[in-house]
Amino acid sequence: MTSLNYEELGLKCGIEIHQQLSGKKLFCNCPAEIRKDNPDFRLKRHLRASAGESGAVDQAALYEVGKKKYYIYEGYEDITCLVELDCEPPHPLNQAALKAALQVAKMLNCRIVDEIQVMRKTVIDGSNTSGFQRTMLIGMNGSLEVNGKKIGIDTICLEEEACQIVERKKEYDIYNLSRLGIPLIEIATGPHITTPEEAKEVAAKIGMILRSTGACKRGIGTIRQDINLSIKGGARIEIKGFQELKSIPKIMDYEIERQLKLIKEGKQVESEVRKAEDDLTTSFLRPMPGMDRMYPETDIPPIKPDTEGISSVKTIEERIKELSSDFKLSPELAKEIISQEIDFVKLVKEFAKLQPKFIAETIINATKEIKARFKKDINVFEHLEVLQKANKNEIPTSAVFEILAEIASSDGNKPDYSKYKGMSDDDLEQEVVKLIKENPAAPINALMGMLMAKHRGKIDGKKAMALLNKHNK
Ligand SMILES: [Zn+2]
Repeated sequence: MTSLNYEELGLKCGIEIHQQLSGKKLFCNCPAEIRKDNPDFRLKRHLRASAGESGAVDQAALYEVGKKKYYIYEGYEDITCLVELDCEPPHPLNQAALKAALQVAKMLNCRIVDEIQVMRKTVIDGSNTSGFQRTMLIGMNGSLEVNGKKIGIDTICLEEEACQIVERKKEYDIYNLSRLGIPLIEIATGPHITTPEEAKEVAAKIGMILRSTGACKRGIGTIRQDINLSIKGGARIEIKGFQELKSIPKIMDYEIERQLKLIKEGKQVESEVRKAEDDLTTSFLRPMPGMDRMYPETDIPPIKPDTEGISSVKTIEERIKELSSDFKLSPELAKEIISQEIDFVKLVKEFAKLQPKFIAETIINATKEIKARFKKDINVFEHLEVLQKANKNEIPTSAVFEILAEIASSDGNKPDYSKYKGMSDDDLEQEVVKLIKENPAAPINALMGMLMAKHRGKIDGKKAMALLNKHNK
């Protein structure tokens, strides 16, 4: 691929991010849980494209209706209810989801709306049983900084997730109901992104800010990015279906090249929605949706957001920085501790006599090292008594790793701690004197080596060195 000059091409790009929240659904008490096993029931529905209140039927709606399909919905007795089936009005808004959306709006410096009005957005591909998706504007006109550049945040919305497609056939589509109604935070940036690499970085930073609320679902498919892009002489294209952040730059490059080719051949570039494919190219998905898609949800009264009650949340990046400076940890260790959601402050209090760095290295690195060296898994948190014993000075800290390795190797059996009991200071001194007498010509490092080889895990290296220096005169 030839390298593209994005500035000359006049690349303009904006991102839309959709993040699923954990907990309950947005308008009912069902869990925000996605299932793919055999459904308890199936039901068949026809949908009709109805005009919005303005009387206009949008272009995308006409396109879908033109296909004259019917839809089959698969659901589960215990995790879907009549709200998902559109047989019961929505319950009051999920307050935890609202709180998370307000926190994100604050972190992204948005102006929060005075009154939240739930809207219905026409959806006619069958992915919503009602034929619309409920969505509400939470904040607008925000910004975030990426590599010193300010990127505008146009809007933050809270909305319902749609059904998951199971199978598309010519005459009908099958949808799974379990995803319908899961809360989604939707963040749209302005068209201020000017390179594909920057698009990736903006997406990563917004993802980090979303996760900082602690309210996000985790795993593949829980966050989705849509990219809007245009170049001079081309048209605005929306690309959906990115699987991974790292694929964003490549997919954008391929799309720009596709448009360049059309422009060179004198062909018109159509404004449309395209899908990111596994090979990183894009394919036509549907025409760009029109504007006549929203009308107010009459089943839910407007909501006054409690902006005072929303405390500001530290971002994950800020928490990593803080942890690493408070406890003198490397950024890598701090990052692991934060991403594994470990309550490190509590551990430091519990094991107050141990160095925080030693605690961090034990809980993060010991597991990895034992896996690498002995091909064994160990959850250090199930064996905190080892750290407890080191904290009480019943075993030397230098024995902690070996004890954990022994536990892992014996598949969790209780270790014989007496084996690891530290040598008393007097015994160590006697041992040092004896060693020097037996090896009068040996240099101090060789003596140290002998001492460590014989008493590994039982003696403190610093103490041993001090004693060797004292007696080796
Ligand atoms: Zn429900």
